[in-house]
Amino acid sequence: MSDAVNTGNIRQPDLITVGGSDAPLVDRFKRSISYLRLSVTDRCDLRCTYCMPERMKFLPRKEVLTLEELYELACGFIDRGVTKIRVTGGEPLVRRDIIDLFHALGRRIGNGLEELTLTTNATQLAEHADSLARAGVRRVNISLDTLDREKFAALTRRDALPRVLEGIAAAKEAGLRVKLNAVALKGVNEEELPDLIAWGHAQGHDVTLIEVMPLGDIEEERLDQFLPLSDVRARLEQRWTLSDSDHKTGGPARYVDIADTGGRLGLITPLTGNFCAGCNRLRVTATGQLYPCLGGSERVDLRAALRSGDPERNLAEALAQAMMIKPEKHHFRMDERGAEPAQPRHMSMTGG
Ligand code: SAM
Ligand code: SF4
Repeated sequence: MSDAVNTGNIRQPDLITVGGSDAPLVDRFKRSISYLRLSVTDRCDLRCTYCMPERMKFLPRKEVLTLEELYELACGFIDRGVTKIRVTGGEPLVRRDIIDLFHALGRRIGNGLEELTLTTNATQLAEHADSLARAGVRRVNISLDTLDREKFAALTRRDALPRVLEGIAAAKEAGLRVKLNAVALKGVNEEELPDLIAWGHAQGHDVTLIEVMPLGDIEEERLDQFLPLSDVRARLEQRWTLSDSDHKTGGPARYVDIADTGGRLGLITPLTGNFCAGCNRLRVTATGQLYPCLGGSERVDLRAALRSGDPERNLAEALAQAMMIKPEKHHFRMDERGAEPAQPRHMSMTGG
């Protein structure tokens, strides 16, 4: 148990050591865990059609971990060997005072933590980019599926493209390295993907494409949205010269260099190319549920452990259990119309 820690506006009286030890986290398939995706809210100011329904039901606020609890958990993971934390959601920047958490965690950079980053839709990034940079964030993933304002409004059910573009510009201005993530969607941004990639590369940003995953009930038919990245790559190769890159980020993307744009393109293929053998990550929801796999239902309740009478012991047990139940791989399928989602949880719950 450490002494009181000054974390700016986050009151942090007693830091516990998650697991009561500093033993590294290794699962039963001998995969070392070094990466935590920490969801800080399930709420969002957009309603992307592939992510959630228009009338999404959000959690009551009291179920969500406080900023202090999120900080406490994150520090515990750092003490157990996590070197990279990505803050996500829902939309992390809609959570009130979230910058305080970035500032608090930023103080762990160089002290166990190597990288603090976030995934955002950028609607609020123009206001926060400077503060994030000051907190120690160096890179940011921004979701952008189209540059067409009407298409953006239809896809996200909100007319927010101008704000998003301002946010992207502000991130660049603040010195943050930007990676643009686009979900490849059949018949929606399929034709536009080369222009989106070229635009991103011209701005100096990396770009990554993602296959849509069957997570959570939405109003649309998943199969109609699914566009295999093998098809996208084949079409890009008719137009550009692509070469496989050795670049690695510790994430699931494989990279190609595009000679014509001078940029790098990441491809995340949960459906057409399984990458679970190298998985180094855990995900914690805003309510403190630890999901060792995005595509699995395995879960341990860190909030219950954290709020129990003996958090050190109970968190130790919860983490040991998580290492035992992390599955070998996910089993996404996209071959049947009207199929149940692989998991009932939306991506906005587990954090993308
Ligand atoms: N709101 C933030 C954003 O959109 O960047 C962070 C959370 S969002 C859930 C994280 C990522 O998940 C986004 O890049 C989004 O496009 C992606 N995503 C959401 N639902 C998805 C799905 N069903 N399949 C694949 N990617 C999805
Ligand atoms: Fe919100 Fe991100 Fe989901 Fe879009 S993908 S609805 S921005 S959480």
